[in-house]
Amino acid sequence: MFDFLKPKKNTSNFIYFYNTLTRQKALFKPIKAGKVGMYTCGPTVYYYPHLGNLRCYLFEDILKRVLIYNGYNVKQVMNITDVGHLTNDRDMGEDKIEKESKKEGKSAWEIVEFYTKAFKQDLKNLNIIFPDIFCKATDNIPEQIKMIQTLEKKGFTYRTSDGIYFDTSKVPDYGKLSGQNLEQLKEGARVEINEEKKNHTDFALWKFSKKDEGRQMEWPSPYGVGFPGWHIECSAMSVKYLGEQFDIHCGAVDAISLHHTNEIAQTEAVTGKKPWVNFWMHNGFLNLDGGRKMSKSAGDISTLNNIYIDKGINPLAFRFLTLGTHYKKPMDWSDDSVVSAKNGYENLLSKISALGNKIGKINNEWKEKFITAINDDLNMSQALAVLNEMLKSDISSANKLATALDFDKVLGLKFNDAIQKKVEIPASVMVLVDERETARKAQNWAKSDELRDKIKGLGYEVKDTPIGQEIRKI
Ligand SMILES: [Zn+2]
Repeated sequence: MFDFLKPKKNTSNFIYFYNTLTRQKALFKPIKAGKVGMYTCGPTVYYYPHLGNLRCYLFEDILKRVLIYNGYNVKQVMNITDVGHLTNDRDMGEDKIEKESKKEGKSAWEIVEFYTKAFKQDLKNLNIIFPDIFCKATDNIPEQIKMIQTLEKKGFTYRTSDGIYFDTSKVPDYGKLSGQNLEQLKEGARVEINEEKKNHTDFALWKFSKKDEGRQMEWPSPYGVGFPGWHIECSAMSVKYLGEQFDIHCGAVDAISLHHTNEIAQTEAVTGKKPWVNFWMHNGFLNLDGGRKMSKSAGDISTLNNIYIDKGINPLAFRFLTLGTHYKKPMDWSDDSVVSAKNGYENLLSKISALGNKIGKINNEWKEKFITAINDDLNMSQALAVLNEMLKSDISSANKLATALDFDKVLGLKFNDAIQKKVEIPASVMVLVDERETARKAQNWAKSDELRDKIKGLGYEVKDTPIGQEIRKI
């Protein structure tokens, strides 16, 4: 399906990414030449993803496409959190999935199956390339227990009345990802009431089922019946599928000081190898009017379905919208931005469609400019500017089309669909359109108008744009 997914020769291009761990932009160099191992934290499948969540998966998709475009063979692993994520991120409260199960009157297993399916459908609708491996926490319970046992042997764990905890005071560089020490992290932590924890930053590796709770998802373990803590699944599954050290780990910015910090602490404690991951990349939030972060707990349930699909708007307009803001920056979102991105995307598609369907050669000069933009920490708004300038340039329509289609391997905006639509215009109409093109070049405006009327008579409207004629069914 994706031809360009096939590995090509090793890249010689320089790519620069901002690394959260070192707090600077640095030259990307993989551990193994030509190959990239990439772990992307996936959804907790207790509800539909909101648009803020989807922005993160779009950023990761662009990152993956840029690496592939540069010739790397990418192996991407994404987890599906289907157990153990509690309503309070600091291991307190109810399991989000068990809670939703009671609310909807379905089993916990039905809940995760339903929302995993919904999540994958959103990825498809946004033209996001699926990870090479999707792995579920519940499919990897023995791996997680084994990792907890290793931590126990090495002296990193202790037991409380409700579970097995990781002792963060045993890790001298705990907090290095956010650049905060234990004291600073304490200031940022919410008020907690778990007084059995030795340090406020300690986190659960295994939680015991409560006798009266009636949990549906629970497993036996050397510590007692229960379920894994939220963070251990990512450590266990990434090591299983990508090895003890790999290249890139991504997520949204709110994962830095808690989830990813804990992943690093426990994985490096198990393997003894540092750094576990070379590049940490995080995307900014999607902010609502007034700068409020979009989140389900705040009652914002803007999903791809209710904002785009149900209203007949192509969901790729959301993909197009996210490309306009650098992934690291917070992105403002409003009803107006939905409309302007829809118009912008449709406008771009008509420009592509107006190029005809003859595919020429990729223009290397424009390709170089495009690569410079995308390899500079994914500067996609600059990449879109290069595309627009290229479309306005004086190279032939066939070469413009070839170059645009090449850029679309990274953009993922389905330019091919725009060409397909063009093909659907009957040959009888296309003959007149071509004739009109000749008349326009000869500045024979009377002939041009006459042909426009004839085309209209056949049920098609022709519009003149700076880059040529645009045809659509009336
Ligand atoms: Zn994770």
